[in-house]
Amino acid sequence: MSEETIFSKIIRQEIPTPLLYQDELVSAFRDIAPRVSTHILIVPNKLIATVNDVVDADELTMGRMITVARKLAKEEGIDENGYRLIINCNEDGGQEVFHIHMHLLGGQRLGPMLSI
Ligand code: 5GP
Repeated sequence: MSEETIFSKIIRQEIPTPLLYQDELVSAFRDIAPRVSTHILIVPNKLIATVNDVVDADELTMGRMITVARKLAKEEGIDENGYRLIINCNEDGGQEVFHIHMHLLGGQRLGPMLSI
């Protein structure tokens, strides 16, 4: 059983962070330390620690993360110019918060996909 992170508290609004979107499966809110002008996190409401922990029954939730990204990108006005979606996994992937989250990044021309 994975330990809850701060994201569970944000999803339950025990920590007051404005939600840009929430339904029965996923929530979205702005990253506390935005790397670019639009930096939103889209997270499953259910605690799933990493992509390695996704099971077949989570497919609807994982798909919802993408459709919510599409909706928010349009709301942010970055859909036509483009944006990037990233999910980091574990140490080599640079994951810091162990509750799956998709970064929605845009609003400016992004650099190379990887800096290694
Ligand atoms: P990771 O490196 O795990 O893919 O990304 C974690 C992200 O969560 C980072 O971009 C970090 O700025 C963001 N983050 C960490 N703690 C908080 C928080 O308390 N509130 C919000 N809104 N974002 C957070």
